[in-house]
Amino acid sequence: MKRDVTSLQSETKLIFEHSHEGRTGFQAPPTPDSLPAFELPAELQRKNAPRLPEVAESTAVRHYVNLSTRNHHIDRDFYPLGSCTMKYNPKINDEVAALPGFAGLSPWQPASTVQGALELLGELSDALLEVTGMDNITLQPAAGAQGEFTALLMFRAYHMKKGNVRKRIVIPDSAHGTNPASIVLAGYGVTQLPSDSNGLMDIEALKRTLDEDVAGLMITNPNTIGLFESNIAKIIDLVHDAGGLVYMDGANLNALLGISRPGDMGFDACHINLHKTFSTPHGGGGPGSGPVAIKEKLARHLPVPVLKKNGDLFVWDWNRPDSIGSVHTYYGNFGMHVRALAYIRSLGGNGLHAISENAIINANYLRKKLSPTYQIYIDKPCMHEAVFSGNNQKAKGVRTTDIAKRLLDYGIHPPTVYFPLIVPECLMIEPTESETKETLDEFIEVMQQIDREATETPDLLKHAPYTTPVRRLDEAGAARNLNIRYFDNANA
Ligand SMILES: *Cc1c(COP(=O)(O)O)cnc(C)c1O
Repeated sequence: MKRDVTSLQSETKLIFEHSHEGRTGFQAPPTPDSLPAFELPAELQRKNAPRLPEVAESTAVRHYVNLSTRNHHIDRDFYPLGSCTMKYNPKINDEVAALPGFAGLSPWQPASTVQGALELLGELSDALLEVTGMDNITLQPAAGAQGEFTALLMFRAYHMKKGNVRKRIVIPDSAHGTNPASIVLAGYGVTQLPSDSNGLMDIEALKRTLDEDVAGLMITNPNTIGLFESNIAKIIDLVHDAGGLVYMDGANLNALLGISRPGDMGFDACHINLHKTFSTPHGGGGPGSGPVAIKEKLARHLPVPVLKKNGDLFVWDWNRPDSIGSVHTYYGNFGMHVRALAYIRSLGGNGLHAISENAIINANYLRKKLSPTYQIYIDKPCMHEAVFSGNNQKAKGVRTTDIAKRLLDYGIHPPTVYFPLIVPECLMIEPTESETKETLDEFIEVMQQIDREATETPDLLKHAPYTTPVRRLDEAGAARNLNIRYFDNANA
């Protein structure tokens, strides 16, 4: 097929203008009205109908039901994956997102025809600003990691606007792996600081590293050990005094709803994982959403387009010369915005507060009940997750991996293991608010049983799991020798 050189050229020109430093404004993408009529060239059109399997409805249903039970998911059983907030997602939110008036929209529609959808985005933005205590927000980023990246680009734009070139971002050694990755992607160097003996940020180490090279600090609060950074106000002041900005990795927001707000703590930006805290099923590689809430000083750098109100009409503002550009085609993963707002509206402010209270109570219940058997890493009340070390079991010759694999035989998804990296034989358990006391008690019993097995029959654990569709996998081998192929059922 002959390339359409003109449209390719104008597309690349658009990208160039988005990334060009001396830019003056952004062009909105073409609207359907401005596009030429388009027909697929004859040589690209299909000659024969596709070979689709024809099966009975009952066969199709059984196929998918059986598939769905071959993997672990939150609708099947307990899934206490730390830092990931695998909570139950009420089905009503999926139903609302699937309403034809939402699911049938096209991002190409002129704003005047989708006022209801834009109002929903506005309402969700307001709710998230209330939850975070921030001034402005973008709903574009498609994951927590992309939210981090977006905010770091805004940090960079902020410093450059002031004529400063700053080169480093500081993180603690308990940081989630996405933090250093986002920092490098945004063109900064990573300075990693050791945590203190309480598992918190080491203030003295922070003071020593702060200078005019530091663009900012990224910190997770509560941190990945499940502890609230009690010196957060001091930490933020120190970074601000050195001219840096402060980012909160808000993936653990499930511990803070209605209790404490990043904006009030003094943070300049934070992301929110809608797929963790605000009810979109995740873990299977599905869509994510990582809105970034910011303070006013960063607003001019927000990704375009920015939603604004023109009289009674919602419109998209593309004319923002200091914007970092777009980070997602269109406006983010809209279906998740619908779910999040449905969840927030059905719970209300008090309901959100109850989420975090119960998430914290559940985590502390597990911490207390399991601490005689599993070594607790820092013996202090925790927030949404309890972090243990498998050292007691290692002494019996059983590793944390073996405990994790054995849990699968009892129908429970393993917790996060070997993270944060600073905890030896780490088991990071996040029960969330959506589990009953009965489920937590069963889990405690299973964990105690596994510890007894470690004493009596350690070899049994080393070859677990026994009851899953596939047995123990060579995960490192699979990652190093990727074998991805399309399975053609029709020709198999
Ligand atoms: C999940 C998580 C992230 C990254 O979020 P994604 O949506 O998976 O990109 C970042 N930080 C922490 C602490 C997390 O738990």
